[in-house]
Amino acid sequence: MKKNEEYEVVITDTAVGGEGIGKVDGITLFVKDAVIGDRARVKITKMKKRYGYARLMDLLEPSPWRAEPKCRCYRQCGGCQLQALKYEKQLEFKQKKVDEDLRRIGGFGEVCAEPIIGMENPWQYRNKAQFPVGRDAEGYPAAGFYAARSHRIVPNRDCPIGLPVNRKVLDAVLSVMEETGVEPYEEETGTGCIRHILIRCGIHTGEVMVCLVINAEELPHAERFVEALSALQGMKSISVNINRQRTNVILGETVRTLWGQPFITDSIGGISFRISPLSFYQVNTVQTEKLYELVSEYAGLTGSETVWDLYCGIGTISLFLAGKARKVFGVEVVHQAVADARENAVRNGIANAEFLEGKAEEVLPLLWERSRQEGRPFDADVVVVDPPRKGCGEELLQTMLQIRPARIVYVSCDPATLARDLKVLCAGGYELRRVRPVDQFCQTVHVETAALLIRERSQKQV
Ligand code: SAH
Repeated sequence: MKKNEEYEVVITDTAVGGEGIGKVDGITLFVKDAVIGDRARVKITKMKKRYGYARLMDLLEPSPWRAEPKCRCYRQCGGCQLQALKYEKQLEFKQKKVDEDLRRIGGFGEVCAEPIIGMENPWQYRNKAQFPVGRDAEGYPAAGFYAARSHRIVPNRDCPIGLPVNRKVLDAVLSVMEETGVEPYEEETGTGCIRHILIRCGIHTGEVMVCLVINAEELPHAERFVEALSALQGMKSISVNINRQRTNVILGETVRTLWGQPFITDSIGGISFRISPLSFYQVNTVQTEKLYELVSEYAGLTGSETVWDLYCGIGTISLFLAGKARKVFGVEVVHQAVADARENAVRNGIANAEFLEGKAEEVLPLLWERSRQEGRPFDADVVVVDPPRKGCGEELLQTMLQIRPARIVYVSCDPATLARDLKVLCAGGYELRRVRPVDQFCQTVHVETAALLIRERSQKQV
């Protein structure tokens, strides 16, 4: 089989990146834009020894699981890899991904995840959006997204997994740019001003934050931007973020408030949170409530426990659990997030939560070592971890195995590193008791999972 040859294939599976998988003479082909259940004519674009990549040429028989994509640019954007697949089939794909990673990477032969918790309306869920700014084909300022694997801007103001307010904000910013002549940033030359438009919205409060990322110390005609944006319903915070680096990192370190507060508020499970432009906040608030309920169930708190919430962000899980625990400690590396977490404890009148700034893999081993030297017991009945995609890291896992909490609740946004870390914990005397995916990232291939590990009884006395 060679490049440019055409074949007829039946798509029998979905790949990790969302492409369709089909076989020709035992050779696996990854077919972009094909979905499971399609029969199609495809053209090979690249061939490796045992597999190849192909493009969809002709849809001979469309899959019964095909859905009409809501977004007119979903193929170019590539952010929603599964938009052409019916939602129930998206959920099936994620369920299978978790089961397969647990088996293949974790070696958990007989463990199956509990049914994934889907979203009732899997659209308009993202509470955060970051639109790059550039020029359209006619040279007018435009905002949208980068075409897949490039930095060419495809104008789009109507992302269907984002909120309707995004469009109003983009309209306002772009029209003030046209009126005042404030230029979009140009990556090739490093000139121009506005790089990105960051929008955040409190799903329960309706509060809106706009942060313009600029390649300057000051935003020219700031008063005009403020005038147009502050007129929008729910607007609470308008700021600029200064990023003068020639990199593709979106945000710089400095944020200056132009109007309103330096934060917005939102709530999860009745607890109210203050969110700053630079802090992490789960993007799907509706599903996050379900995820945290699951974490709470897994934690099995009775009121007497000491809980550690590692990678705590602005303290959302810590504060969600604080009412059911004796004491909660949160650990987080981003300074502003720790400040937000402390402020969030105060604003909710929660006195039994304490936040420590630093890397989880440094803070925990240090405190554990200190308690041992002083001959004190280390209080940790439940440890919750919610690391970034790369997972926990060996050192933290080993410290957890020495501390030996009765329960470990692992929240993960990557089933592969989850399976890897669970294997280490289970080899060290824990039993994987429950696992359940929650769909936080509808229309995309990303999967969120919670897992419960229980300390094995036989080793308790060691
Ligand atoms: N549990 C929180 C945040 C999860 S996201 C929530 O549900 O909202 C992961 C968080 O880990 C981010 O806030 C990130 O800043 C933080 N982080 C990344 N690496 C870290 C490390 N090595 N130690 C501690 N925190 C880290």
